[in-house]
Amino acid sequence: MSKFLSQKFSGLAPYVPGEQPKERKYIKLNTNESPFKPSRTAIKLSNKASKGVQLYSDPECKALIKEFIAYSGVKENQVLFTNGSDEILNFAFMAFCDKEKGAMFPDITYGFYQVFASLYGIDYKKVPLKEDFSIQVEDYFNAGRTIFIANPNAPTGLNLSLDEIEQILKENTDSVVVIDEAYVDFGGESAIKLINKYDNLLVTQTFSKSRSMAGARLGVGIANQKLIEDLVKIKYSQNPYNVNAITMAMGIGSLRDKKYFIDNCEKIKANRHYISEELKKLGFTLTDSSANFVFCKSDKISGEELNKKLKEKGILVRHFSGERICEYNRITVGSKTQMQALIKAIKEILEETK
Ligand SMILES: *Cc1c(COP(=O)(O)O)cnc(C)c1O
Repeated sequence: MSKFLSQKFSGLAPYVPGEQPKERKYIKLNTNESPFKPSRTAIKLSNKASKGVQLYSDPECKALIKEFIAYSGVKENQVLFTNGSDEILNFAFMAFCDKEKGAMFPDITYGFYQVFASLYGIDYKKVPLKEDFSIQVEDYFNAGRTIFIANPNAPTGLNLSLDEIEQILKENTDSVVVIDEAYVDFGGESAIKLINKYDNLLVTQTFSKSRSMAGARLGVGIANQKLIEDLVKIKYSQNPYNVNAITMAMGIGSLRDKKYFIDNCEKIKANRHYISEELKKLGFTLTDSSANFVFCKSDKISGEELNKKLKEKGILVRHFSGERICEYNRITVGSKTQMQALIKAIKEILEETK
């Protein structure tokens, strides 16, 4: 730390992304990326767009929004695209929280919520998940705070029903409720259909996972017009050209190539089923994941040990040190070949540690 860093950031604990090592070729199952290439239409359109980057990108993202509303059925003024969904979450913390209006989220969830809250000096409350890692909706009633819920949740993969989300919305008419749907395409039900009914709902989605675009950085917020106006105000005060022209074109291509997107989601769901069954046969305990990862533990080997041994065998999975989840690993669902290699490696490890 230099002597110049603002005092208010001296204690900041930043987000720690999953590792992206380059020293050897790993099977990467640690950051929930897609094993599939981006859509060919997306690549074609982005190549074309790269030839025009002497000009700024369209700050209004008009062409992309047009494509998205055809896909989702919402209105033009109910959408805001961002540089990854981390950015729309960032905007939401800036727009809807402050010293007086704190934030609230589960104790076990996406680590960035806490980082954003700390960055802005926002008071936050972590609500413990139940013993089985599910969310008790009543805990969020009359929160008096801006609520952030990942649905499906990470790293548990567990889902709240639309009905439960609606209960939370109804019991918090004076607070914004942010539903982070980073994994919704793998089995959840989107709350987008509720935005006209509830003026306090912001839904966020990402092109990183189900649309194979993690490296391109594209996220989106969907809400009623007034909430979007607030977020747009933040965007134009922070980074008007937040979505670059190449990514924008890629997003348009991805939305047009609907069949490829749906097929890939189906493949991931099938592979999730396969790996879940195989892990159960090996004695693992798993949560009932609706996401592109499984969250699992074995009573034959500690979470940390399994993580280390898999790495030695060239497979990266994610381990978290939190007290309640340190026996678990979060394993991204990849291609069938990757999943077969994973199961083979786990069998060997269990054999070796007998
Ligand atoms: C991956 C993830 C995000 C962020 O995705 P971006 O790559 O920034 O679009 C947001 N929320 C959750 C729960 C995630 O897992």
